[in-house]
Amino acid sequence: MNNRQLFMLHQAQTTHFPMMLEVAGTDGNYIIDVEGKRYLDLISGISVNHLGHGNEQVKAAIIGQLNKYQHVMVYGEFVQSAQTQLSAAICDLLPKELNSVYLLSSGAEATDVAMKLAKRATGKSNVVACKNAYHGSTHAALSINSDEYYKQAFRPLLPGVSFITFNNIDSLDQIDHNTACVFTEVIQGEAGYIAANLEFLLALKNKCKETGALLVFDEIQSGMGKTGKMFAFEHYGIKPDILLLGKALGAGMPIGAVIASNDLMVLFADQPILGHITTFGGHPVIAAAAHAGIQFLVASNLLNEVAEKEALFREKLVHPKIKGISGKGLMLAVELDNFDNNLKAIQACLADGLITDWFLFANNRIRIAPPLTITKDEIEQACFIIIRAITQVYSV
Ligand code: PLP
Repeated sequence: MNNRQLFMLHQAQTTHFPMMLEVAGTDGNYIIDVEGKRYLDLISGISVNHLGHGNEQVKAAIIGQLNKYQHVMVYGEFVQSAQTQLSAAICDLLPKELNSVYLLSSGAEATDVAMKLAKRATGKSNVVACKNAYHGSTHAALSINSDEYYKQAFRPLLPGVSFITFNNIDSLDQIDHNTACVFTEVIQGEAGYIAANLEFLLALKNKCKETGALLVFDEIQSGMGKTGKMFAFEHYGIKPDILLLGKALGAGMPIGAVIASNDLMVLFADQPILGHITTFGGHPVIAAAAHAGIQFLVASNLLNEVAEKEALFREKLVHPKIKGISGKGLMLAVELDNFDNNLKAIQACLADGLITDWFLFANNRIRIAPPLTITKDEIEQACFIIIRAITQVYSV
């Protein structure tokens, strides 16, 4: 059997219409299929490959750590320099209060751990999240997904969850003295790249202070420079109590992280001891890759180029059928009228050598989340292909 047949036969499927691109390799901002066709990657493996594919510094760090040691012990017992260097590097990028990092294996796990930490710290049980937010797909993360369609088959989920409306200050009265924490993205991802309003985040921060709820910013998708600052919350000057990272933090390797103050994080060591444990969190090879990724990003000029690249996308993506472009930096979404036309446009792009996608809660939008390393020529090429695809779809 060939790989495509094995994929259908032996790999669990998540949709009935997978993209089926059979990958042979990568080259910078391109993915190459088994026929040798090159695809410009406009989605970075869903916001992971922010340095493009195959960054040499990251590869060298992986190989260097492979040659030293791989797994030696579960998280939190042995001192492993790859972990300590990564944790220190993350803290160096953050406000001084965010000085303790729990390294994990995925974003959803980070969501779960943040919820546990907030419950442990506040002694309260309720969790508030935003409508149309996405924080992962495990039971705990799914519980704070507002979309009934995705939840209906998996009940019972966590009790004590309620939803506020993103960017709507009036809905904040859902947060009260029984609220352990409030989760929000700073740029809502799966809602189709919607940036938070400053007034909303300020009011949210104040409401959390007033009620004693911990504020959790999920920057799993928006972190690591995508908006032109290392973390999107820096645009607003509002700090969370708990920060979640993942995706691009691993520079192509699987990772999740919860960052909080030492005072909060130390609670996991007590009542109960081993309040959260993981075998593979902080795996040294992954930690080495993540650390190299941070070092590369910090030394590069990539963050400074984001605004200009965003402007170029906005300038070139003009078409009568485009209803709007939302988002910030290199997290942009092109709004069309419906899923059907969007899917056709996405498929036309793919046929033309451009990989893009739709969003979980905004299936009428085209996702633009390229590696930060995308060049101006590549942006022009991507926009040309998108406009041509839209013209093609709507002229039939
Ligand atoms: N939080 C946000 C904002 C995300 O975009 C995602 C994944 O898309 C997650 C959490 C879950 O991360 P993972 O897929 O690594 O579990």
